[in-house]
Amino acid sequence: MITPVLPTYARADLEFERGEGPYLITAKGERYLDFGAGIAVNAFGHAHPRLVAALTEQAQKVWHTSNIYRIPGQEKLARMLVEATFADTVFFTNSGAEALECAIKMARKYHAAGGAPERYELITMEGAFHGRTLATIAAGGQKKYLEGFGPAMLGFPQVPFGDLKALEAAIGPATAGILIEPIQGEGGIRVIPNEMLRAIRALCDEKGILLVLDEVQTGVGRTGKLFAHELAGIAPDIMGVAKALGGGFPVGACLATEAAARGMVAGTHGSTFGGNPLAMAVASAVMEMALDENFLPHVNMLGLKLRQKLAMLADQYPRVIEAVRGEGLMLGIKCRITNTDLVAALREEKMLTVGAGDNVVRLLPPLNIEEGHLDEAMEKLGRACAKLDAGLADEAALAGAKS
Ligand SMILES: *Cc1c(COP(=O)(O)O)cnc(C)c1O
Repeated sequence: MITPVLPTYARADLEFERGEGPYLITAKGERYLDFGAGIAVNAFGHAHPRLVAALTEQAQKVWHTSNIYRIPGQEKLARMLVEATFADTVFFTNSGAEALECAIKMARKYHAAGGAPERYELITMEGAFHGRTLATIAAGGQKKYLEGFGPAMLGFPQVPFGDLKALEAAIGPATAGILIEPIQGEGGIRVIPNEMLRAIRALCDEKGILLVLDEVQTGVGRTGKLFAHELAGIAPDIMGVAKALGGGFPVGACLATEAAARGMVAGTHGSTFGGNPLAMAVASAVMEMALDENFLPHVNMLGLKLRQKLAMLADQYPRVIEAVRGEGLMLGIKCRITNTDLVAALREEKMLTVGAGDNVVRLLPPLNIEEGHLDEAMEKLGRACAKLDAGLADEAALAGAKS
């Protein structure tokens, strides 16, 4: 019999009653060190007093009005985002997929408004993930997400990951732009090198097409920069943001330059809940903390330390870990064993991580963790790797005994 909750998720049999900083706590009081952070969402951990206050204060005033009226919280947060980034304007959404929907529509409308409606294609890279709506599964191009849902939406040609030549060759008279994640998250913490991002930016300028970045997972400090494209010293024309923006409250945003947004006039796009006062209050508090001068240096310092420690672990357990990659506190452990075995072994150590494509385990801790939490994580990782490594030794011995 089907469960009352539609069974679309392969969930771990684990539930939490409350959270406290980087810990999630079960009803029995077991404390799990959360190095998944709701998949890069809880950037300031759980139940951060400042975010709790922002939400509850707004909850006393007004929850929802409508985009029929001005929403002061939107104007405040949009100003903050515009001042802190390349963007001149922002559309607020409830999720990452919706931020990408807006980005896709905007890129198409840009060319239509410029008299070239035939330019509607966004070229993407294999391994991409942009969400689960019909447009974003077409953009992601992954068979497992497209299958059975009818013909995929047109307009998302795909090239192999990191193949600049193929990317250039794919640009034609129907191209509206290039849509990529600076670091693929679901795809397995696959980093687009800075030189390549710069070359892609130059290619877009040369061809008169738009660079659309999906920074839903990389954004709001995760990589040690406010947004990952800053690592390469370039800027997109349009950018989707979500996950960490609300620190756990659902909110997304599509940021754009004035030029890229030229077609998005009154009536072209909308959302009932997008930019809701509750979401704006929390996201404004998140941005204030992310813009604190000590925040990004902290992420960078801890990111470097964690990476060094993980490199040592990889040296110690070469049969378990193949490589460590990523930026800031968006790190991936590329496994030699099955990645889900490491996720499960860590869960037994009461540490939460997230699997990804390319046999990777993602470490995405809250960005405000302290060094002590890194030490705790490394102890748990060490024990999990030792167990898995011992398992491999047993298997080898068994195979030896049989032959
Ligand atoms: C999570 C994610 C999305 C989708 O966000 P939802 O809020 O689940 O719709 C899109 N792009 C990237 C890169 C993501 O990591």
